[in-house]
Amino acid sequence: DTFDAMGLKENLLRGIYAYGFEKPSAIQQRGIVPFCKGLDVIQQAQSGTGKTATFCSGILQQLDYDVVECQALVLAPTRELAQQIEKVMRALGDYLGVKVHACVGGTSVREDQRILSAGVHVVVGTPGRVFDMLRRQSLRPDYIKMFVLDEADEMLSRGFKDQVPTFNLHLHSFLKLSVTVYIMPSF
Ligand code: AMP
Repeated sequence: DTFDAMGLKENLLRGIYAYGFEKPSAIQQRGIVPFCKGLDVIQQAQSGTGKTATFCSGILQQLDYDVVECQALVLAPTRELAQQIEKVMRALGDYLGVKVHACVGGTSVREDQRILSAGVHVVVGTPGRVFDMLRRQSLRPDYIKMFVLDEADEMLSRGFKDQVPTFNLHLHSFLKLSVTVYIMPSF
């Protein structure tokens, strides 16, 4: 099994190989193609198995790059993880011209607003700041067609328990279309 056989965009493959990946990991072999078909995907794997690149590749393959609107939203439980995902997304999408921004607490709200209003394809963030951007209408959910909940067990426990289900309802009420939910429990 190879990345070449997955039917990915040429410039996504370039990004994947330039990042140093040669062969897809087991989780990538099973997850990337279904994600790219627009199926709802739930994957459960230990950390270090390549989950980040799985959903990043799926998102990067599915974006419409001519539309500079937020089409994919990734929620993660910590700032560091969100910023790490942002980096991977940017690296793998380097040859596609992807615009990605991490919305996390502890950074300038103004700067987030400036970057979002300039236009992005993907937002990666922690729930608090992402809600804040939605409330301020700096982040508009109208074009979101892919939704990833990373480390879903973590996200659905602790303080996020109340925020995430609310967020789902919020998305559905705005979108009226099927949302790709990608749930990745951590162990
Ligand atoms: P993750 O499970 O997303 O935290 O990824 C764990 C580590 O595996 C990261 O350092 C990735 O860069 C690396 N990795 C992911 N996919 C591959 C791959 N197909 N080939 C080599 N390394 C990979």
